[in-house]
Amino acid sequence: MRWTDLRVGTACNQACRFCDQEGLAGDGDDAAAIEAMRALPHREGLCLAGGEITLRRGLPALLRAARELGFRKLAIQSNGQILAAPGAARALREAGLTDVAIALHGATAAVHDWHTATPGSFRRVVAAARQAVAAGLPVRVGVVVTRANAMQLGALADLAHGRGASSIRMVLCREEGAAVADARMLVPRWSVAAEALIPAAERASQHGLDLEVAGLPPCLAGELRPLLADGPSVHQADRVYVAGEVAREARAYPAPCHGCALRASCPGVDAAYLRRWGAGELRPVGAAAPGPAEVVLTTAAGATSRTLRQQMVHAQARGARIARLVEPLPDVAGLVRDAERLGLAVVRSSV
Ligand code: SF4
Repeated sequence: MRWTDLRVGTACNQACRFCDQEGLAGDGDDAAAIEAMRALPHREGLCLAGGEITLRRGLPALLRAARELGFRKLAIQSNGQILAAPGAARALREAGLTDVAIALHGATAAVHDWHTATPGSFRRVVAAARQAVAAGLPVRVGVVVTRANAMQLGALADLAHGRGASSIRMVLCREEGAAVADARMLVPRWSVAAEALIPAAERASQHGLDLEVAGLPPCLAGELRPLLADGPSVHQADRVYVAGEVAREARAYPAPCHGCALRASCPGVDAAYLRRWGAGELRPVGAAAPGPAEVVLTTAAGATSRTLRQQMVHAQARGARIARLVEPLPDVAGLVRDAERLGLAVVRSSV
């Protein structure tokens, strides 16, 4: 489904260390927001965002207006601080809300509250997720991945699942907005994030949670690929700003990208990241010599489900189309799922 994020203003009740809207002035009025909705070229998914959208008194009226304009799905992006109040999510659902995206940046109060610079915010955001699920709204948890929470990503997937979320989106923190002042504390190295995301992807897969990852160069996503609903991405939705636009630096293709087989589908990387840390972590994908059409997975040489998944990723990159699973194998259901996500036909046999 096509989604548009409509950012209607900047007012907020948290002070997140990585907020990207520094420098934007004020809020667009409700009439301007409705005009922007009307001008959209589709009537599929619309996500209203601020700042913190629930601070807006006119939010129920905006949702009703969007419903009358015919949008199939209506979501909000929220930090959950107001949505935690009993009845708040239910009232918005009655106004037309169909989905909620809730921002959760740590699996513990200490880590989440450090990111939001708002004491008590973890307790409220967890309560908000519970309220939204109880109101019958599908919840997507959004995580900004930083150096400070990278080691909690698996626990975050568990927490999201435990609170009834149906999907989770992890976006690597960029050096922009408020994060510029604290970039060394916040912006994770790509190679560290790629490792840290693996437990999150494994837990999400076990829980049946859809996981999206944004901001990771595709060449570093190897082992993650079969665990993600889609490949790593930068843009999941169009963005429309009602009250001024966040200026974004164009993404870059440094020297290692020249000749990379993924370049045509790669959105490029952060220029600010390259200035700070260079391009040494990138692993351009060459035109690999074609390999066998079939990859045979066995427990020979003590293979684990992780090493078997790596075998499939490498074989698929070299042109394999079939995964032959010779059982018994560890986590065979997970291997079948991973193979299918890689587009491999599965053939099962036993020793
Ligand atoms: S084009 Fe560059 S950033 Fe993109 S996948 Fe290839 S090497 Fe990585």
